[in-house]
Amino acid sequence: MIVDRLGRRFRNLRVSLTAACNYACTYCVPDGKRLMPAKNELGADEILVLVTLLQQAAGIDKLRITGGEPLISPKFDEFLQGVMQLGLDDVSLTTNGQFLTQKRDVIVDSGIRRINVSLDTLVAEKFRDIARSGDLATVLAGIDQMLEAGVKVKINMVPLRTKNGDEIVSMLDYCLERGIELRYIELMRMGHLLHGNQFQADYMSMASLLDLIGEKYEFSRTDAPFDSTAVRFQIPDRGVFGIIANESEPFCKSCTRLRLSSDGHLYGCLSNSRNQYVGDLIHESTPIALSKLQSMLMSALEDKKLAFEGEVTVMKFIGG
Ligand code: SAM
Repeated sequence: MIVDRLGRRFRNLRVSLTAACNYACTYCVPDGKRLMPAKNELGADEILVLVTLLQQAAGIDKLRITGGEPLISPKFDEFLQGVMQLGLDDVSLTTNGQFLTQKRDVIVDSGIRRINVSLDTLVAEKFRDIARSGDLATVLAGIDQMLEAGVKVKINMVPLRTKNGDEIVSMLDYCLERGIELRYIELMRMGHLLHGNQFQADYMSMASLLDLIGEKYEFSRTDAPFDSTAVRFQIPDRGVFGIIANESEPFCKSCTRLRLSSDGHLYGCLSNSRNQYVGDLIHESTPIALSKLQSMLMSALEDKKLAFEGEVTVMKFIGG
């Protein structure tokens, strides 16, 4: 097992199934831009081989399917079915939810037990303003279908002072009523937000979120697993919410995440664009692939930072 001096090792793999997305969220891509598939995206079968190698070489036991938007990828069905056969402890999915209704049967039949849906607002007009595509009612219907089928849902919301800053509590109400854990993700300085004023204008800190929530609910901090990205809070008799406090309380020192992009590059850190190309390894014998992977993983682990410093690479490309 490869471990660094802080005791960090790779345990969680995030697989970006495609770099393409049907949304163009204002905080993710600049005006007029939309992310397209990477030039040399790997097939579902090829990604599955890489996942198997990473299970052996790094001890990966948790995997999240992400993107881009995984549900728009033609690889989605095959990959989901395949990855559920690999004996991982935990498989989850992050989606913007626009195609949950169409993919309901594939998701439910695969046996996946939990998904995260990114949803920044409950107001249709604001939804179009932030996502610049898609339809709120369709996402909400998809969430209901997942809950009815017994799939656990968490919602990810990126609070943005100028857009949905007035929905911090109403989003929490919506989630508590449905037994959904809401995760507020502090805005991250990624892509076009690294420079310019948008980050400063929109960033809402964990303290400011807690102040707003405290006006309605009593809560106390509760346990989270060692390598959890979220700080979690319990509202007695109502439920739990979390804050992924990249800026206020960075979790880099206990980060166990490794990312595989849709075109076969490994990233050891979301705040570092250094990467290792592993796409070729699928043509090697397993022992050779595993030995090459060991040194690549050591290098990827060295890329991990001690705090999130911002990164010009767009998150959709690396895999959020
Ligand atoms: N398309 C999928 C989705 O919408 O969940 C998966 C990819 S998306 C990049 C993953 C998550 O990253 C979403 O919850 C999105 O809101 C979040 N995200 C993207 N850019 C971000 C930023 N600059 N700061 C914080 N979160 C961001």
